[in-house]
Amino acid sequence: MATTVIGFPRLGEFRELKFSTEAYFRGEISETALLEAAKQLRRKHWNLLKTAGITELPSNDFSHYDTVLDTAFLLNVVPKAVHELDLTDLERYFALARGYQGEKGDVRALPMKKWFNTNYHYIVPKFEKDTQVRLASNKIFDEFAEAQALGFHTRPTLVGPFTFLQLADYEEGTSPADFLESIIAAYQTVFEKLADLGAESLQLEEPILVKDLSAQEKALFLNIYERLLADKKGLAILVQTYFGDVRDVYTDLINLPIDALGLDFIEGKKTLELVSTGFPSDKILYAGIVNGKNIWRNNYEQSLAILEKIPAKTVVLTTSCSLLHVPFSTENEEFEATILQHFAFAVEKLAELRDLDTIVTKGAPDILAKNKALFELERVEKNTDLARRIAGLTEADSTRLPAFAEREVIQAKQLNLPALPTTTIGSFPQTAEVRATRLAFRKGEISAQDYDNFLAQQIDDWIGWQEEVGFDVLVHGEFERNDMVEYFGQNLSGYLFSKNGWVQSYGMRGVKPPIIWSDIYRLQPITVKWSSYAQSQTEKPVKGMLTGPVTILNWSFPREDLSIKESTLQIALAIKEEVLDLEAAGIKIIQIDEAALREKLPLRKSDWYEDYLDWAIPAFRLVHSTVAPDTQIHTHMCYSEFTDIIPAIDSMDADVISFEASRSNLVILDELKAQNFQTQVGPGVYDIHSPRVPANGEIDRTIETILAKVPSHKVWINPDCGLKTRGIKETRESLVRLVEAAKTARRGLQ
Ligand code: GLN
Ligand code: ZN
Repeated sequence: MATTVIGFPRLGEFRELKFSTEAYFRGEISETALLEAAKQLRRKHWNLLKTAGITELPSNDFSHYDTVLDTAFLLNVVPKAVHELDLTDLERYFALARGYQGEKGDVRALPMKKWFNTNYHYIVPKFEKDTQVRLASNKIFDEFAEAQALGFHTRPTLVGPFTFLQLADYEEGTSPADFLESIIAAYQTVFEKLADLGAESLQLEEPILVKDLSAQEKALFLNIYERLLADKKGLAILVQTYFGDVRDVYTDLINLPIDALGLDFIEGKKTLELVSTGFPSDKILYAGIVNGKNIWRNNYEQSLAILEKIPAKTVVLTTSCSLLHVPFSTENEEFEATILQHFAFAVEKLAELRDLDTIVTKGAPDILAKNKALFELERVEKNTDLARRIAGLTEADSTRLPAFAEREVIQAKQLNLPALPTTTIGSFPQTAEVRATRLAFRKGEISAQDYDNFLAQQIDDWIGWQEEVGFDVLVHGEFERNDMVEYFGQNLSGYLFSKNGWVQSYGMRGVKPPIIWSDIYRLQPITVKWSSYAQSQTEKPVKGMLTGPVTILNWSFPREDLSIKESTLQIALAIKEEVLDLEAAGIKIIQIDEAALREKLPLRKSDWYEDYLDWAIPAFRLVHSTVAPDTQIHTHMCYSEFTDIIPAIDSMDADVISFEASRSNLVILDELKAQNFQTQVGPGVYDIHSPRVPANGEIDRTIETILAKVPSHKVWINPDCGLKTRGIKETRESLVRLVEAAKTARRGLQ
């Protein structure tokens, strides 16, 4: 059998691309040097794949920033303002991704969105009235030729036209239909040019096909492909899907004149069922059987059982999605061998594909036996007490009493806050000094006492400053935390942390998700010390600050031998202990962040409740269900894109929710009103994802808009999100404006 991968991590084994790119941004290395560094990485990666025995190598899966952006660049879908800048191609490319501010002009970056249900972000292309679609970049051709010259015959990959059109934004008055002809023509030119260069096949990535498709969307898809495939210029076309199954278009897909179809057998709940209905003998099935998202070893017996049921005549073994979503290699980790043997990062997954092929074609009982033995090991001891506690949970455990309306009255009396109370989301700027001191402490260069003194000093400064500016509900600032998930993971049993397990998140930035290794329970109180300390320094209420169970789970690599529901409930019980300890320590307001709740919403609406919200929301409620009525529970969510799940958010039964809103023009407020949202709300009035200080009067206008739509006794005034990544100066200036604007609005209410 042939073996391949959909794509390979781009940043490099030690994030070389990130470091070169940043050096280029700082002007320390030239464009040529950056391009050369990228070339070296591509060569290394092709070599690795080849050496690992992978028979079909992809090309153009590499990117200097993002492959959707590459596709926009290829198709000349570049906003006029950027087009007009007198820049080199690479500079213009980065201008789209990051904005450009300099001698040659001032343009804003294109927006960024999460790539399906991953933590990778793509750049959202924008079609404008005068967008002229035509081929405008040689990247895909150059990289094919580059590989060819090195002796690697590759299969170029490209975001498919349907996914591209569906993910793009459109200037008012334009729609996908306006660009259809030119897009199809452009893709056909790609076919032609690749064929001329000697390519035999092309992978068109169409992950959007795993979402629910309306009749209209389906018609658009078929329309595009029927015309696109009318002349393939001699290329074999692989339509590659991932992140789910293609139930809405399976029959159509297998009837199209494509040559190969790539399907996800890991996340695609119905993939096996679909192919069991038949797969044409003249097409190749690319079977995504090795998980491209998780870091655990493949269970060969299970994979073989799936492969056996696949009726296709020709199967190519591949990954469930691009390996971009897993770290590079376990070779640079320091786990004990007994632990490490359970992990497979990108490089190890290549060996798994080859193993599976060897087993299927040659038998190889020794390989199979070794893998079987690994899965028969009792990897971790089960915490039976915990399992029993979870099995015994009922609806009542996730129900807080009295009901919200009654608590609202009690809390108003008890807290006695002014109208439109002001607060922040938790973190204050993590300056170089804060980060350096934390690192010094971790390396043992400064004593625990010195570190504590440093943190106390930071808290004192910021508590004092918040009082001075006039905030109503204060925060301690989260200076002790490097990351809102890792910090909790480090204080919970059951977590492991990799040294080098970086995964691309946005641009050249990586995240290092912690690994859930075994059952999770709390080892000791986590946040009580610093929250109580901060509270002891002021008469004003200080918010306790926790990360919620769903977010902790979503930003970790989850176990595969336990359901994510069960793992989340374990985390929920641990965080619940923390909530109760904070309450006992006299903290009256506790915020439980669920920044990542929205992002793991299943891609299909029909799965939202059963597969996710039905357990995720009760898990959140479990965390706070037994606090006293006068303890006020806050939550925070990033992105206001929850218009579709407003009742679910309300049923988290928090007393107050803050959310990112200032970029979304507050459209969410109409929906909250229409759906009779009960929870008090703090829609962000200051965009913290930009260094910009809101202009005079800007926050005032935002507050007016909010008050026009939400009753004033339900409104809180706060920024969009935590301020950790911002500089001190802009933060302080902006927050002073925020408090002033709230005070002005408050006067207006009387
Ligand atoms: N409390 C966190 C902070 O302020 C919330 C961050 C987030 O929502 N991503 O940093
Ligand atoms: Zn946030």
